Amino acid sequence: GYVAYAEATPEPKLISSAPVIDRVDNKKQKIVVLGTGWAGTSFLRNLKNPNYEVQIISPRNYFAFTPLLPSVTCGTVEARSIVEPIRNIVRKKNVDVQFTEAACLKIDAQNNKIYCHSNLENNLDGQEEFVVDYDYLIIAVGANVNTFNTPGVMENCHFLKEVEDAQKIRRTVIDCFEKASLPTVSDEEKKRILHFAVVGGGPTGVEFAAELHDFVNEDLVKLYPGVKDLVRITILEAGDHILNMFDKRITSFAEEKFQREGIDLKTGSMVVKVTNKEIFTKEMKNGGEVSAMPYGMALWSTGIGTRPFIKDFMTQVGQGNRRALATDEWLRVEGCDKVYAIGDCATINQRKVMEDIAAIFRKADKDNSGTLTIDEYEEVIKDICERYPQVELYLKSKQMKNMVDLLKETTDVSKGNVEFNIEDFKTALSKVDSQMKNLPATAQVAAQQGVYLAKCFNRMEEAEKNPEGPLRFRGEGRHRFRPFRYKHLGQFAPLGGEQTAAQLPGDWVSIGHSSQWLWYSVYASMGVIWTPRREAVGGTWACLGSGGHCGS
Ligand code: FAD
Ligand code: MG
Ligand code: MG
Ligand code: MG
Ligand code: MG
Repeated sequence: GYVAYAEATPEPKLISSAPVIDRVDNKKQKIVVLGTGWAGTSFLRNLKNPNYEVQIISPRNYFAFTPLLPSVTCGTVEARSIVEPIRNIVRKKNVDVQFTEAACLKIDAQNNKIYCHSNLENNLDGQEEFVVDYDYLIIAVGANVNTFNTPGVMENCHFLKEVEDAQKIRRTVIDCFEKASLPTVSDEEKKRILHFAVVGGGPTGVEFAAELHDFVNEDLVKLYPGVKDLVRITILEAGDHILNMFDKRITSFAEEKFQREGIDLKTGSMVVKVTNKEIFTKEMKNGGEVSAMPYGMALWSTGIGTRPFIKDFMTQVGQGNRRALATDEWLRVEGCDKVYAIGDCATINQRKVMEDIAAIFRKADKDNSGTLTIDEYEEVIKDICERYPQVELYLKSKQMKNMVDLLKETTDVSKGNVEFNIEDFKTALSKVDSQMKNLPATAQVAAQQGVYLAKCFNRMEEAEKNPEGPLRFRGEGRHRFRPFRYKHLGQFAPLGGEQTAAQLPGDWVSIGHSSQWLWYSVYASMGVIWTPRREAVGGTWACLGSGGHCGS
């Protein structure tokens, strides 16, 4: 059976006697980065401050371009063309950087130490364990697969998180065709073996189904003419629609396309158990009937979970009852000094405007009169918008240009003359928090967070003097960092057959062949430079990078 990496990690044993790794330079402050995925490498690529010594620790000595992973499952793209060795990136740095291939097993935030274990197959006789101390820790370890404790999933399903997963899926698909071609296998058994089930109608599942469909119809039908008519692909989704994070037009387009192509879409059915030959689903409606469905290969892609050692760390820092590791808007782990968390392992605990409303009002009310003039109000507007992204989203949803419009909607103030009180202020802003959203677990977010944090470290000397950051409305100076702000550059849903649906900022949706060029232009605007070593195929469901604009 398949065991995800985190579950296979050995428990720490000798840890208390493990040696502490020496520093390269005792005069420099040391940053330890955990993880070589989107967040960790994007930090590393963008860090320029030579005043630090950096140690990057990850069980994977390469970066993987995950958007092309689904294409690796069917051989459209070779595995080696989507990875980049970390030591190549390290080599080019003007900062002291060391890479160590190991997994962190425990964070001891009280003593600024982490405990590591080499995952290499070796006979190191105990030398595989060591301790690393840090001045700053950046946690960028990504997420686990999430089985929701569904019985049989770990043992029987494939996952698609790592390059090895994609390669294993590819072998398994071919194996299914070979097995179904054996002379001894009954027709019914052939049908079962060639039934490919995809659990989860998110972008990964959908893209895999589309890739598999193309692979079967373009290549495998020619190689296995005897069994081609027995192939079936089913997507099982508990919700009402697939791709529910996308625009409705994209969802319907995908659903209709799959229907035409004979990909079976079973929405409203939740997988409750998996055995080696059957998947048990429960209808979400109509009395919750449970039925069994024979299958040959299953991909589980229903979302992500927290790694066990991160859960343990959360308990240490008083976040035991949270679902994900929470940071503030500057990406600092809440309740823990000098530790940052970025990418899929973290979530920003965005402040609510209504919780801070009294403080904001006080700050705006410079003359302490208990009322604000429109001029006083306008002076804090910029800071409010910067600190609370939900305000901008709310204005956009109401098609308003600025916060003055918001105030005009609920009070009768007009420019310059009328003053208003805290109750008016509360009323005007009462609904903005409804627009608060967690950022999605995407490479786009992870990469932007890595860039942001590197920029902060590049200017850390300033930040140390002003540890509270750019809370400018709370009365601080000019040189502070702004909080992290995500810039959504658009989303792409590759649907197979060279069709891609694109959803760009400004409610712009494009479906069809022509969407492909957008994909390239998005790459051109990426903060992380990536040159696929062959002609790019497939696609990416969200474009990546730290800045720039789409389609330019
Ligand atoms: P990861 O990239 O997962 O990196 C985590 C790193 O931490 C890895 O190097 C891992 O080895 C390391 N690590 C794990 N455990 C430890 C430990 N104990 N100690 C130290 N290091 C550890 N996003 C998009 O925006 N667009 C897409 O098109 C897209 N397509 C995707 C397709 C697939 C198939 C998948 C699986 C994901 C896709 N994503 C896409 C999502 C995107 O890959 C993730 O959001 C992104 O990888 C998150 O970056 P990260 O750095 O937080 O985590
Ligand atoms: Mg990472
Ligand atoms: Mg990655
Ligand atoms: Mg995140
Ligand atoms: Mg006043």
